[in-house]
Amino acid sequence: MKVLIFGSGGREHALAWAVKRSNRVTEVVCAPGNGGIAQIARCVPVDLKDLDAMIRVAVAEQPGLTIVGPELPLSLGIVDALQQRGLRVFGPTRAAAMLETSKGFAKRFLQRHNIPTANYAICSTAAELEKAIDIFHPPIVVKADGLAAGKGVIICSSRQTALEAAHNLFSGELLGEAAQQVIIEEFLEGDEISFLCLSDSKHVAPLAPAQDHKRIGEGDTGPNTGGMGVYSTDALLDPGMKEWVLHHIAEPAVRGMAEEDTPFIGVLYIGLMMTPRGPQVLEFNARFGDPETQAILLRLDSDLVDALEACIDGRLAETELRWTPGASVCVVASSAGYPGSYKTGFPITGLSTAAQVPGVQIFHSGSAKVGNQLLTNGGRVLGVAAAAPSLEEALARAYQAIEEIHFEGVYYRHDIGHRALGRENNERWNHS
Ligand code: AMP
Repeated sequence: MKVLIFGSGGREHALAWAVKRSNRVTEVVCAPGNGGIAQIARCVPVDLKDLDAMIRVAVAEQPGLTIVGPELPLSLGIVDALQQRGLRVFGPTRAAAMLETSKGFAKRFLQRHNIPTANYAICSTAAELEKAIDIFHPPIVVKADGLAAGKGVIICSSRQTALEAAHNLFSGELLGEAAQQVIIEEFLEGDEISFLCLSDSKHVAPLAPAQDHKRIGEGDTGPNTGGMGVYSTDALLDPGMKEWVLHHIAEPAVRGMAEEDTPFIGVLYIGLMMTPRGPQVLEFNARFGDPETQAILLRLDSDLVDALEACIDGRLAETELRWTPGASVCVVASSAGYPGSYKTGFPITGLSTAAQVPGVQIFHSGSAKVGNQLLTNGGRVLGVAAAAPSLEEALARAYQAIEEIHFEGVYYRHDIGHRALGRENNERWNHS
């Protein structure tokens, strides 16, 4: 079977790597891909903002399965368009992807289905805003409604700064595009966990849980990024808590979408805050996370293509996902200056030595191949992933490998997994 993957980052590199392991797959095509993905798949140029161009690639390639990596093509309706052309595609329709593409839709949906989430108000005018902010206690979270590539959430220490942030979202000053709606939310405190599930619109199958590190600086300081690293261990959630999240959050969400005639097929990524009053939904994403996918797929022991096809065919309940026990991590190497401005085009060296460290896989986020040379081509350049029987060992392997890699200005955090390692007595989020 030929598999087509849309996307160009570390997530898509990991998807291509996992798909290639299936003995049913004969060819992997990635559009547009990157320098690293080109080593394991055929890359076809495409603009992920151009729906017609993506349709042309899929129709020309006639893949047996298409996997959509990023949110933008989902928000443009790539899944609807390919389904209409008789192609098998893994991912939610445009309407179902609204769980990610509209925070306002997601909040109202959560409330309609009694799924725990932070208290909120959705405001369309300055007058609504002023009234709403008055009833929240600082810190106050202010969010833009639409896709904002991680930049649409502002945590404000006073009502005044919350008001200013919201006005700046309305005026377009903060994101470049004026927000139609702004969401005001209570601030939740706790540990964040990424709980990803496959969904066939009736059943869910949880993936291995993960915890990511969004801030650029060690000790979780500095500006937010797309993600600087992640780890996955079963110890993140004990079995009782996992069941609770499934029964009170994941399953009602998928059931609710089906009841509302927007069945959700794809990856439901649930961003959870583990608060003293229980897990609360921070956000939904309608796709695999990046860099969560790099760490999670390293632990997947069963066939990814079988699982994704089971979602499309409504057979998820009969499908077993098997996971390698232990831990996995992914440490991101970024360009100097990221998440602000940065330069690209620097040669990357040391990759083959790094790849020889046992248990290590290197996934490229932003690289380009020019002639025989791999060059940096993005803010996040590489994700060095490693699996091992313990978190300590997985981290040791990833850091041993990343130290072999060089490009001008290379930066990575040295403290990925610190919250788990620092947790006394291996305390977990347990249900009792
Ligand atoms: P979101 O895109 O909604 O997940 O928000 C991005 C990040 O902002 C989350 O990963 C959290 O770290 C933070 N965040 C969002 N909402 C809240 C909230 N209600 N309380 C505390 N932190 C939040």
